[in-house]
Amino acid sequence: MKRPKIVVVGSSNTDMVVKAARIPAPGETVLGGAFVMAAGGKGANQAVAAARLGAEVTLVARLGADPLGDEAIAGYQKDSLLTDLIVRDPDRPTGVALILVDAHGENSITVALGANEALSPDDVERAADRIRAADAVVMQLEVPLAAVERAAAIARAAGVPVILDPAPAPDGGLPEALLRNVTFLKPNESEAERLTGISVSDLASAERAARALQELGPRTVIITLGSQGAIVVDEAAVHHVPAYRVAAVDTTAAGDAFTGAFATAVGAGAALVEAVRRAAAAGALAATRMGAQPSLPTQAEWEAFIANHSAGRA
Ligand code: ADP
Repeated sequence: MKRPKIVVVGSSNTDMVVKAARIPAPGETVLGGAFVMAAGGKGANQAVAAARLGAEVTLVARLGADPLGDEAIAGYQKDSLLTDLIVRDPDRPTGVALILVDAHGENSITVALGANEALSPDDVERAADRIRAADAVVMQLEVPLAAVERAAAIARAAGVPVILDPAPAPDGGLPEALLRNVTFLKPNESEAERLTGISVSDLASAERAARALQELGPRTVIITLGSQGAIVVDEAAVHHVPAYRVAAVDTTAAGDAFTGAFATAVGAGAALVEAVRRAAAAGALAATRMGAQPSLPTQAEWEAFIANHSAGRA
């Protein structure tokens, strides 16, 4: 298959993680253990996922003109991302997620969006030629909706597939004009629930939610269901793609691995169900490792996993 060109328009954060015995109550100080700092944000995670799987990926994002922004760019370049369309914001800091993890693995997170909040339609416009030349464009909702809408409109007008991961899902749903420009809408079960009001608890309710979402405009809806796999609804049919059976250690970024891999597979010309299977393989691999970006597999690991496993079987 050819090497796909992917453009990701989305967030980039620095995740700062401290592990401690417990999460402090208001006003309390808990002395913690290890501190880990790593690049994060759904946009960056999905961009890195696709790049590790072999795609040529441009990340359109906003970082601060600060040392955390420098470090993020250096890391992305190590992962071979094209960073020329990342804007350095002179007034806002790089986005930061402060993550506290307790002894049981429960976490609490606060995010200072910083420069992400200022990603604008003009920033996206500067990437218009790259978007038009792409095999797929990928977006999430951690940056302003106006930027997402512009990217979807540019891509749609050029016939480029639009993949929207509606995370975090907004209360009150998404604008119809945006959904009409979406080729593949990829919520997880709680996002599907929030967008439709349908409680998603099994395959049948996931299918109902997917159909309800498809009526709003996207050509294809893929609802990921963790270890239950994914439900795929397109114009023609409903498919259930089972998950690969793995010993999950930490499912952080499984969804981001799935989306990055799906974009890579679709961009390379894979048919829908095959692309979802390949995406599920990347999600499963990410679930077997700790962390967000550190858990994202390489192309060699991905291909070997697909060659050696069948979805739904050990
Ligand atoms: P999110 O992280 O957005 O909630 P999911 O948990 O639905 O996304 O995971 C996305 C995909 O990753 C799933 O559809 C599945 O293919 C794969 N995956 C996630 N968790 C597991 C798991 N425990 N075992 C196998 N595959 C998994």
